[in-house]
Formats: sequence, C-alpha cells, structure tokens
Amino acid sequence: MQILTEERKLIKESAREFTMKRVLPIANKLDPEKGMIPRELIDEMAELGYFSILIPEEYGGLGLGATEYCMVAEELSRGWMSVASLIARGNGLIGALKHLTHEQKKEYLPRMARGEYLGAFSLSEANAGSDVANITCRAVRNGDHWEITGSKYWCTFADQADFIVVIARTGPKVDPKARHKGLSAFMVEKPRGQLPENCKGSTIPKIGYFGWTTWELAFDKCRVPATHMIGEEGRGFYLATAGLETARAHTAARAIGLAQGALEDSLVYAKERNQFGRSIGEFQAIRFKLATMATQIEASRALMYSVCEQIDQGQRCDTQAAMVKLFATEMAEQVTSEGLQIHGGAGYTTHFAVERHWRDARLTKIFEGTSEIQQRIISDALLGKVPQ
Ligand SMILES: Cc1cc2nc3c(=O)[nH]c(=O)nc-3n(C[C@H](O)[C@H](O)[C@H](O)COP(=O)(O)OP(=O)(O)OC[C@H]3O[C@@H](n4cnc5c(N)ncnc54)[C@H](O)[C@@H]3O)c2cc1C
Repeated sequence: MQILTEERKLIKESAREFTMKRVLPIANKLDPEKGMIPRELIDEMAELGYFSILIPEEYGGLGLGATEYCMVAEELSRGWMSVASLIARGNGLIGALKHLTHEQKKEYLPRMARGEYLGAFSLSEANAGSDVANITCRAVRNGDHWEITGSKYWCTFADQADFIVVIARTGPKVDPKARHKGLSAFMVEKPRGQLPENCKGSTIPKIGYFGWTTWELAFDKCRVPATHMIGEEGRGFYLATAGLETARAHTAARAIGLAQGALEDSLVYAKERNQFGRSIGEFQAIRFKLATMATQIEASRALMYSVCEQIDQGQRCDTQAAMVKLFATEMAEQVTSEGLQIHGGAGYTTHFAVERHWRDARLTKIFEGTSEIQQRIISDALLGKVPQ
C-alpha cells in the first residue's frame, strides 16, 4: 500500500504552498478580529479545485477520493481550520452526494465543483445534538411545495451559503421506537448573504471557529419546491448519516493540520526564545514536549491514511472512522495545549497563532459527533449494543 504517490505528494505540496502563502497570513490577521473569510480566498480555492475533489468527473469534479480530500484539508487546517472546513461546503456535501438524482446532480454538482454553489448543513437543533433523531422542525406538503416550520441551532455558514440542506420531520407522527424514521432532507436555496425567505436568525457567540458565523434559525412556512427534496421522503436520517466516515476522517484531518501548525510554531519559538542564557529548546522539558507532540501527530496521520484508504477501497469502516475522529481530536487538544505552554505567556495572547489552533482544536472534539459518541460507537462494536 503506497499512500503518498507522486500525484498525491504534488497535491499535498500545492495545498501546503497555498496555505502558507495565502491562508495563514489572512487567518493571522482576521481571526483575532473575528473577520470573515474573504470571498476572493474562496474563489482561489475554487480555482485550485478544492470544492470538487470528491465530485465525479462526469459532473465537473476531480473524481478523487477521501485520501486527497483529507490531505488538502490537513494542509489548509495548518493555516486556519475554518478554511479547511469550507471545502466540505462543496464536494457534493459528502453525505448528500449519493442521494441526489441524476437530474439534481446535473443541476447542482458542476456549480458546486466550481465553488459557485456552496452550502450549509442544518441538522442540529437545541434539543437534537448527539440525539439527532430528536428533531422537531417539521415540513408539511402544500401542493407542489413543502413548507418548513420550526427552529434549528448551530447552522454554520447559513448566511453566506447559496443553499442550506435542512433536515426536517415529514412523517405524520413520531414512532417512539424508531424516532429516526420520518425525517427528510431539503435543499433550501437562498440569496448569498441573506437567510432564506420566511426564516429569521441570529448568530451564536462562539469562542473560536471564526471566519464565518454559526446561526440559530427559526423557519416559519419557508417554501421549498417539492423537487428540492433530496433522497427519499422519510429517509433523511440516512442522508444525514451517510458519508459520516469521510466526514469524520475530514475532522481528523483538520485536527491533525492544526496540531501540525502548533508544532511548527512551537519549534520556531523554542529556538528563538531565550531564558537563563540559552534557547528554551535546549531544555529537556521543552525538547521532550516537542518530541511527544510530533509522535502524537504522526500516529494520528498514519491512522487517518489507513481510514482514508479503507473508504477509497469502498470498505465499511465506521468503527475505524470513529477511532480516528476520537484519537486525532483528543490528540489535537493535547498538542495545541502543549504548544501554548511552550510559548509561555506569549501563547496566551492573540499575537501568536497557537491560541487559535488551541481554541479550534477544542471544537473538533465536539462537532461531527462528540468524543463520547465516538467512544460509544467503538465500544458498541467491541461489546455489542446495550439495549435502549
Ligand atoms: C461551533 C459549532 C458549529 C457547528 N456547526 C454545525 C452545523 O453547521 N450544522 C449542524 O447541524 N450542527 C452543527 N454543530 C452542532 C454539533 O454537531 C453539535 O454541537 C454536536 O453534535 C453535539 O451536540 P450538542 O451540542 O447538542 O451536545 P449534547 O448532545 O447535548 O452533548 C452534551 C454532552 O453529553 C454527551 N452525550 C450526549 N449523548 C451521549 C451518549 N449517548 N453517551 C455518552 N455521552 C453523551 C456529549 O458527548 C457531550 O459531552 C455545530 C456545533 C458547534 C459548537
């Protein structure tokens, strides 16, 4: 098994170069002031094909796999995790891809591949986070339209996206033994820079993941053409959870990228900072921290490549995907925290990127399924499910 083929090395190197020249300086300037990712940067990412990596060639994409997707995400995240997250807003929205009809694919994917049609994903609600099946937002059929009514929480990019994929309940009543049934997915199109018609919202104050905003949304009879339902009616839960293996590998890639950023910055700082008449990089306490950080990153990367390889081979690997999501994100929190420690007081200022990596690493343990949910998936695979 050779993961780093010549072609992949080129993809990785090019993403690295773009990150260091373009993403990192923008992140260092905008993140401390909570600025938005500039549209020109998004256009440059589109030029490089970053929104089309997973889209099949027949729909204008690069037709590559999870390995290339995660390699690019890792490099982008070394600069700014929010930018690495953005590529998931194209790429067929991963999970949705296989549920689109041929007509929908022809309509949406080429534009998505060109970065002209980027989406947000609205699954979570105030009382439906880990427990996704608890969704109460509802869609009711009215002639050739559906009308969505209800509240959503945590919708990142809701304002700047060209569409929002909303998961809402369409089944007549909730079956307490199978609450995941009766959910459907809708492509809610909207003008860029605004929320959809009949939808109000407010931004959620976050402690990181800047560069874009995350929203609480209230839909009130928001009309969606019936042709904009994605996948089969009542099977939206499966759409929301399809592609989770790739999504979790992508989260691991983001965690590895920002940990790598913290390591590289710490190496520079350890050589430059002098105390007691010598560089702090000469103290064994600091050297051993750096050695452990590098080892943890390398182990996570190896596991990520292994999971990506399984995804690209079409093998089911939900347990392994949960493992890499758990392992890499827990690693990222530790590594960025150690990086901050190496920076001393300077690490606790917004003058150094390590604090951004630390704040963003914290989030990787929460979204795309919390660490505890990954542990639950893994332990279920080891021991069998506990009856509910
Ligand atoms: C910055 C940010 C951006 C986000 N962006 C989006 C987005 O764009 N679209 C979207 O749909 N969602 C988004 N989310 C939502 C995210 O996916 C949820 O926050 C996440 O799934 C956790 O849900 P929760 O916050 O409701 O936590 P809860 O589910 O309430 O969990 C609280 C705690 O209980 C634990 N817990 C819950 N259930 C179990 C269990 N069965 N076993 C053991 N422990 C358990 C959790 O691990 C956690 O520690 C975003 C979240 C954040 C913070």
